[in-house]
Amino acid sequence: MTAVTPTPAADTGLAVLERELKRDLENLCRPPANWVPPRMADGQPVADVAIIGGGMCGLIAWFALQSAGIRNVRIIDRNPAGREGPWLNYARMETLRSPKQLVGPAYGIGNLTFRAWFTAQFGESGWERLDKIPRPMWMEYLRWYRKVLSIPVENDVNVDAVLPAGDLLRLDLSGPGAGAGSLLARKVVMATGRDGTGHPTIPDFVRGVSRTRWAHSSDDIDFTRLKGKRVIVIGVGASAVDNAAEALEAGAAEVRLLIRRREMPTINKMMGIGSAGFTAGFPDLPDAWRWRFMHYSMVTQTPAPRGSTLRVSRHPNAYFHFGKAVESVRENDAGLVVETAGGSRLAADYLILGTGFTVEPLARTEFPGYAEEILLWKDRYAPPPDERHRELGNFPYLAADFSFQERTPGKAPWLRNIYCFNYGATVSLGKVSGDIPGISEGAAWLSRGIASRLYGEDVELHFQAMLDYSKPELLGDEWTASEIDRVV
Ligand SMILES: Cc1cc2nc3c(=O)[nH]c(=O)nc-3n(C[C@H](O)[C@H](O)[C@H](O)COP(=O)(O)OP(=O)(O)OC[C@H]3O[C@@H](n4cnc5c(N)ncnc54)[C@H](O)[C@@H]3O)c2cc1C
Repeated sequence: MTAVTPTPAADTGLAVLERELKRDLENLCRPPANWVPPRMADGQPVADVAIIGGGMCGLIAWFALQSAGIRNVRIIDRNPAGREGPWLNYARMETLRSPKQLVGPAYGIGNLTFRAWFTAQFGESGWERLDKIPRPMWMEYLRWYRKVLSIPVENDVNVDAVLPAGDLLRLDLSGPGAGAGSLLARKVVMATGRDGTGHPTIPDFVRGVSRTRWAHSSDDIDFTRLKGKRVIVIGVGASAVDNAAEALEAGAAEVRLLIRRREMPTINKMMGIGSAGFTAGFPDLPDAWRWRFMHYSMVTQTPAPRGSTLRVSRHPNAYFHFGKAVESVRENDAGLVVETAGGSRLAADYLILGTGFTVEPLARTEFPGYAEEILLWKDRYAPPPDERHRELGNFPYLAADFSFQERTPGKAPWLRNIYCFNYGATVSLGKVSGDIPGISEGAAWLSRGIASRLYGEDVELHFQAMLDYSKPELLGDEWTASEIDRVV
């Protein structure tokens, strides 16, 4: 499977689509008027919600909040405009894994789907010819999504810390676009991505190895430097395989994938059971069932896509070595010596870690001094011995509205105002805050949860508004009062 580069159709166009979309939004009365009473603190306006991350999750979270009448929302991303998320940074696959039909962040609006955007430019015949979505094209679609909905992402701004400030949260900002250096918000949404509640997984065996000799798959790797080099890739998940393919295509002398498991994972279990029922039912399952599903998914591992695997194996100098957990990596003048389980010893010039990401809230710099107060699964649930799993235990144990909960009640009550709208929510709420398929559903739950909390917190103001409301619907000239003049 190779990426399709479609040719634009003459008779269609984005301008038409954008007009139709505008009409859809008008017909649906979106966005409704803001209903959240404005707040000021220390002479500055308070944002009702601040979203950290302007990738797919941040964009749809913003749209869902607007659609719920929560209009005073800031959205911030550390990357330059149009470079949010992995797609043009470290994602290295030719196409998305997801089938092209997935509606993703369309939020129930047909004219906001990838399909509508694509066919507006390349026609129905182009759609028929399209196999999978080319990776850069998905980013182009997200850019259009942002533009057409006028989403005011503040780029080149890093959120260094989220700190309690009375009943508010203060975000400390840095970077070229940071302006005032901080902002106050009532609620914060962490739409911070695949490693948004953790970090890239760096195994101990690279400790001490010079940084010019290895990279994690999420690093910026200059593949041209790997021409003629012996490359070892650790792992066989999607990222490992995509990075192996890039190295091979850049002219690496050889690429060896060292794989701990004895057999290739071949079945995408989670995709197999995806349904509206799973999405709706999963968050309400008892802990034991939620854990069991996620544990099984983790231990069986999602296979790399077929196209990505073929992209590697069509090179005669690509090798898949199974049952070869790395035991040590040593560096000498000639390069690296890698020792694996079973006593194999390999020489290499460069190592790429396709080891994925670890969920570990403690590693996030945005929660200085209080990350350890986040309630985790291991605090709440003790699995049976055959289902123990260290990483699953480190996932945050979230409330139904994506908010963090406290480990010790009363020690960090502001955690309830921080919402984990990223991969870290998976064990608590399922696959609705990261991957493309369930993202609209997740955004709807998130915005409903935030709307409910904002309303509840301001209930006195809203009740006062009811008392104060005095605009008559009847003006007094619609009826005449009569005396009863007849007794039956
Ligand atoms: C390589 C790769 C391939 C994938 N392929 C698919 C696929 O084919 N199908 C599928 O369904 N899913 C796929 N996914 C999963 C998922 O769709 C993506 O991870 C997607 O990018 C999730 O969107 P997001 O908005 O949560 O995160 P991102 O797109 O990563 O956006 C998060 C944003 O947060 C910003 N940010 C983080 N911390 C801060 C901070 N402190 N201050 C300011 N900004 C911050 C980052 O700059 C980033 O732009 C893939 C993931 C990866 C990593």
